[in-house]
Parts: sequence; structure tokens; C-alpha cells
Amino acid sequence: MSNVMEEKGSLSINSENIFPIIKKWLYSDHDIFYRELISNGCDAITKMKKLEVMGEVTLPEDNEWKVTVQVSPEEKTIKIIDNGIGMTADEVKQYINQIAFSGAQAFVEKYKDKTNEDCIIGHFGLGFYSAFMVAHKVTIDTKSYKDEPSVHWESEEGVDFEMSEGTRTERGTEITLYLNEDSYEFSNEYRAKEVIEKYCSFMPTPIFFENVDAPAKEEKKSESSEEKDGEAKDGGETEEKKPQPINDPNPLWTKHPNECTEEEYKKFYRDVFHDYKEPLFWIHLNMDYPFNLKGILYFPKINTEYENLDGVIKLYSNQVFIADNIKEVIPEFLLLLKGVIDCPDLPLNVSRSALQNDGFVKKISDYITKKVADKLSGMCKVEREAYEKYWDDISPFIKFGCLKDEKFGEKMKDYMLFKNLEGKYLTLEDYVKAAKEAAGEPEEAPIVENADGTSATGEEGENAEESAEEKKQVVYYVTDERQQSQYINMFKEAGLDAIFLTHNIDQPYISKLEYDNKEIRFQRIDADLTETFKEEVTENEEDWKKMTDTVTELVKKALNKEKLTVKVEKLKNEKVASMITLSEDSRRMQDMMRMYNMSGMDPSMFGGEGETLVLNANHPLVKYVFEHKKSKNASVICEQLYDLAMLSHKPLAPEEMTKFIERSNEIMLLLTK
Ligand code: ADP
Ligand code: MG
Repeated sequence: MSNVMEEKGSLSINSENIFPIIKKWLYSDHDIFYRELISNGCDAITKMKKLEVMGEVTLPEDNEWKVTVQVSPEEKTIKIIDNGIGMTADEVKQYINQIAFSGAQAFVEKYKDKTNEDCIIGHFGLGFYSAFMVAHKVTIDTKSYKDEPSVHWESEEGVDFEMSEGTRTERGTEITLYLNEDSYEFSNEYRAKEVIEKYCSFMPTPIFFENVDAPAKEEKKSESSEEKDGEAKDGGETEEKKPQPINDPNPLWTKHPNECTEEEYKKFYRDVFHDYKEPLFWIHLNMDYPFNLKGILYFPKINTEYENLDGVIKLYSNQVFIADNIKEVIPEFLLLLKGVIDCPDLPLNVSRSALQNDGFVKKISDYITKKVADKLSGMCKVEREAYEKYWDDISPFIKFGCLKDEKFGEKMKDYMLFKNLEGKYLTLEDYVKAAKEAAGEPEEAPIVENADGTSATGEEGENAEESAEEKKQVVYYVTDERQQSQYINMFKEAGLDAIFLTHNIDQPYISKLEYDNKEIRFQRIDADLTETFKEEVTENEEDWKKMTDTVTELVKKALNKEKLTVKVEKLKNEKVASMITLSEDSRRMQDMMRMYNMSGMDPSMFGGEGETLVLNANHPLVKYVFEHKKSKNASVICEQLYDLAMLSHKPLAPEEMTKFIERSNEIMLLLTK
């Protein structure tokens, strides 16, 4: 039994130095004291439970574990009360007076030269003393489970303390904070609940909240019980409503995956992320060895291809919330998901940069990545239908992962799908195989078509000097179904296929695929005219040249665009009069410039060609232009053909659009004459 109950002393061990630093370090989240004090209460209860399991103590039947938070907005105080293990006088001396200070001192030593950015992840190690960030006076009233007198401890500003025999009669600890003026907010019921919800939602002991200044509910009820009877929803007049804990001590991730139902997963998602769109699917992580890690990762439903992907991964340590989106632990691309991860083995009382370079942390993060890749590839193999159904939603995430994480990309590479013009989901391999078959080539033949659309089935030898680039298998893709519909139709009619790559992530992803697969080359559907669309020219060379030159000149003049590239071709599709092509390289260059906001610049500066206007010599309008070169009508037709081609290529600029509409109206007027 401890004997020295009356004691005074000075907590002089550098404490003047400690608090300014604690305040600086924790400046951005003063609210963390709630987490520290409530988790101490939970810890005290966990210790008591262990003693009971070990048979060291016997508890009364009606014992109910609880931590109670009591705020008094009028008194500006907060009490945190637990019925845990309690402390003897010796323990207070040892754990509060000494250890905490020496801990804090070590902390100061370690971090005094560091900057705020490199802050401690968990803020662990300060624990109890974080109370002094918000309170000028803190008292402890505690009674140990051992048969020893209770202890009263108090300290002003955390510099001096006083200790004496206390008056507490029940086992457990009550901490009282007398708030500083600038921290009064924490005694406000709503603010307090908000903070507790943030940090303590899943702490392992039931937490109850009381606002001692709010009129008691029971009183209100009895005062007005007669009027209220009719509408009383919550359990009748006689039965008193039992207060409910404000946390969930058994969050879903702590259960075994076999014991969780689909509805529970969905409910948990709604409750934690306040997202009322259902998640697509989820991965329940559950690992004990070689490290302890539990959690649930949800694939959220993304509404549109433009919606930002920003998920949130909440990190916990033994059900105590640490922080959102700690990128040192969670691979960056996984931050697009929504989920919770509880990993008590993480060294959280170190700085962020230390965490980043920690081999153990890297292992944890690799494990999470592997689990996600396993789930996805497993789904592709076993539940292909579901995988296809989700593909549009999950593919931006997966592609981002492939770009960011080499290992993930390697694991996923055979499970990447591409939606084709028919709406079927193919692998790249499927697409290439079908393209080769469509072109009537034996499977192992190197080329179907050249990137520039010249001779694929043409005579041999003509293009003996083909560059490696031209030999590559072309994969045609669509970025905008509406904008490129003219080309899509031509492709379909010609029996050619293309894949949809419509998300922002697709351009960088294409570059990666081209880098990884040297034998393929991606080309947007409107990049060029392939041989398939053209008809053989039967006219004699001279006549043909005369015709094409004349038409080209007329168009340039009519449009007043000397530099425009014009090609006159015989297209099989007779409905198409004019179209625009833009070479893949030029377009990628333009996209890049747009991305870097250099749109004012001329693409030709970078060696790109700009758009080509293709006119179909088979079309009567084009024939008319040639035959009526001198007429005003020919010039109007040229302008109209150009605008129409442009329209099905990209949106017109406002002034171009105005002219186009005026001209269209004039043309229609002719119908009335
Ligand atoms: P930590 O929790 O990391 O050990 P703290 O500063 O939060 O550091 O607490 C220091 C010690 O004080 C605890 O380890 C515990 O022994 C004791 N302690 C603090 N709060 C309580 C409590 N509510 N009940 C029992 N013991 C407590
Ligand atoms: Mg603690």
C-alpha cells in the first residue's frame, strides 16, 4: 500500500519547453485531446477486462463497461470518466508525473529541429498531456481496482502538480478539464460530438455523452407527458429510454468476413462515408500474420467519366482513428477508393518521412496492393460478367493504378478490358487477333495495316522501306462517341472494329501500353483514312491530277486557307462528301498543349500537321465543284463541306458556328425559289 498521500512537487523537467512545442506540433488539431483521453479510458477498461479473463478479479454481474464524456458549456468544463482499472497513488506518480514527462521530453529532443510538415502521424506519446493544449487546469480523480485509497491530482498549466487523498469511491478514473478561453468550443455539445465522432466512432468500449447543462430528457418528458403520449415514438410512457452509446465498439472490419452480410457491408459504407450511392463491391482485408491488418476497401460507384475520383481511406490503430489518406502507408492509387484500414502494428509515433522509408510500412502497403489486384483478377477469371458490368466504373481506378504502381500493373495486365464498337469487352489480345482475322491475315503475320493507312494488302515490295513504326499493329480507338460518330459508322460499314477510350486517364494509359507493347500503336479513329475506305482510281493519271489539283485550289481559295491540307479521294461510302482527319501525332501534341494551356500556339511549330480535309470524289457535291469551278455556288459548297466535316470532328468556334448557320439558311432559301 502506498503511504505518501500528501505530496507537493514541481513538474519542472523542462516543462516550460515542452508545452510551446506540443502546442506547435498539435496546433492544427487541438481537438486530438478528446481522442487521447477517451482512448486512455478505453485502455483502462481493456486492462480490467484482461484481469477478469485471467481470473485476477471478479466483477459484479451488472458491471457495464463504459466511458462517459460530460460537458458543461456553462462551467466550461469537460469530464471524461471510465470504470476501468484506475490508478493507485504510486501509479499516478509513475505514469502521470514521471513517464509522461520523460516521454514528452524525449519527444521534444527528437523533433525540436523538425518542421511542421513532417509532423507526427499519430501524435502518440503525448497522451494525457494533450489535455493542456485546451485546459489551464486538469484534475484526476482515480481509484484503483486494488484496495487502496483514491487519489486526487491536479495541475495548473501542467507545470506544478498537487496530489492528495481523493473522495472517489468507485473503481475508475475521472479526468476534469477546465478549458482555456480559446478552447471553450470543446464544451459545446455539437462541437464535442463532432470531434468524438471523428476520432472515437469505433473505439472498443461504449462511449456515452452527456451535456449536464441541457434540460434532462426525462424531466421534459414527464412535464409534458400527457400531450406527448400520442406521438411518443420511442418506446411508451413507462419504459425509460436507455441511453445509447455514441460509438460502435464492434465495427464491421473486426469481424470475420464469413460473418458479414452484404447488407452489413453496405450499411457500414453508408454510415462511414455518407455516400448513398451503393458501392460496387468491396474487399475485406483480414490478416494476422506476419502483421496485424484488418479493413474494408470499397469500390465506389463513379457517376460520370468526368467526376473526380477522390476517395478516402481512414486509418485506425486498434479502432482509434489516426487520420485520413496517409499516403505514406496507403498506395496513392488506392486513395481513390473508400475504406477503412486498422493496423495496430504501424509505427505511428514517428514522423511522416520516417514512415515513408520504413521497410515494414512498405510491406504493409504492398500487401494491400496485392490484395486488391488478387480480388480484381479473381473476379475477371471467375465472375467475368460482374467484372464487365463494373468495368466502366472501375477501369479509371485500375488504369491509374497501373500507371502508378509497376507491380500492380504487372498483375493486372491480362485483366484489362476494352469495350469495342459492339459494346463487347475484349482484352487487347482479343482485339488484335480479331483485327488480324478481319484483315484476312494469318495469325502470326506481323502487320494488318500501316499506321498511315497505306498499303496493307497492297503489292509487296512497294513499301519495303517501312519504318518499324509503320509495321506496328494499329489499335483504333474512340474518345467521344458523339463527336466521332461519322467515323464510327464508316468503321462499322467497313467491318472494322475500334475500342472506346473515353476517360482522361486513357491518354497516359495509351502511352504506357505503347511503351510496354512495342508491336502495337494506338490511333484515334479519325486520325487517317485507311485503305479499306478508298476505291481504286481508274481515271488516267493526268485527268485525275488535274481534277484533284483544281478542287484543292478552289477549296483553299473559298476558305481563304492557303495552308490547309486537302486530299481528294475516292471513298467507297457514297454518303460521305467531306471529312476531317488529324494525324495521331498532331492530335496528341495538341492535346498536350491544351493540357499545358498553350492552346494559342500553332501546332505546326512542333512539327505537327494540323487537320486534313478529305473530299470524296465520288460524291455529287464534289463533282459539282469541279464541274462548276467558276460559279459562286461552288465556293459556297466548299465552305459548307468544310464546316460540315469540321462539325463532325470537333465543336466549331462561336464565330464559325454563326457563319455556318447563316450560310445554311441561305442554302435553304434556295429551296424556296
Ligand atoms: P499512453 O496512453 O501512451 O501510455 P498517456 O500519456 O496517455 O500515454 O498515459 C500515460 C499512462 O497513464 C497510461 O499508460 C496509463 O498507465 C495511465 N493512465 C492514463 N489515463 C488513465 C486512465 N483513464 N485510467 C488508468 N490509467 C490511466
Ligand atoms: Mg494514452
